Amino acid sequence: MMIGEAPAMAIFGAAYAAVIGLCVGSFLNVVAHRLPRGESVVGPRSRCPGCGGRIAGRDNLPILSFVLLGGHCRMCGASIPRRYPAVEAASGLLWLMSWLVFGPTVDGLAAAIFSSLLLVLAVIDAAHFLLPDGLTYLTLGLGLATSFGVTWTTPPGSALGAAAGAAVLLLLIGGWYLLRGVRGMGLGDVKMLAGVGAFLGLHGMLLTLFLACLFGALVGLALLAGGRLSWGSRLPFGVFLSIGAVISLFFGPRLVAAYASLL
Ligand SMILES: [Zn+2]
Repeated sequence: MMIGEAPAMAIFGAAYAAVIGLCVGSFLNVVAHRLPRGESVVGPRSRCPGCGGRIAGRDNLPILSFVLLGGHCRMCGASIPRRYPAVEAASGLLWLMSWLVFGPTVDGLAAAIFSSLLLVLAVIDAAHFLLPDGLTYLTLGLGLATSFGVTWTTPPGSALGAAAGAAVLLLLIGGWYLLRGVRGMGLGDVKMLAGVGAFLGLHGMLLTLFLACLFGALVGLALLAGGRLSWGSRLPFGVFLSIGAVISLFFGPRLVAAYASLL
């Protein structure tokens, strides 16, 4: 592997990818805060939601500023939600994983961008039960575009994955509606799975859906058993789609191979 060839460069590359991921995570926090409120994600500069004061550059460093400030705004002392450093750390980790699994390739860059989109979709869905069209369509568009460069799918595979992702979820929602008379999921989930299919192709999309249903059912049952959820209450399915898609992205081929060897 490349660590034997040039360990210093490999470590530098991994650290570089992680730091870019941390900074992307900081931007994802801005997107997750502003997009559901209909605000611009490019300007103005970040302000404290507590006092409205402009946050200085030195207080806007990923994770580091949260720790140095003790989790409070320097100006008014309002506490900063722990979600902020958590999203930054998760983003840093996803970019590091993209580097470690795919290296400095088109695959690696596509993986980093895709997993960043999945992260911000999960954060917004968890907070608002919403998967904004802007983000799901961006995922779909970038998935179709990167299929020309990545090695795990092809442009026809990407288009097939997107169409199948939308179709299978529409069928599930329709079937559920006929059975129960309620809509189990929103169209945001349909668009999101289409985007996942565009990035990963048909097999990655199917593995994502399988994992998302599995995790959703396990978490739902655990919450029901603990009395923290009642029958008929909703779970943000986009969160489970995100987790399934990240696993599918980084470990999909190995998971499928392990499963095939069992049969
Ligand atoms: Zn403040």
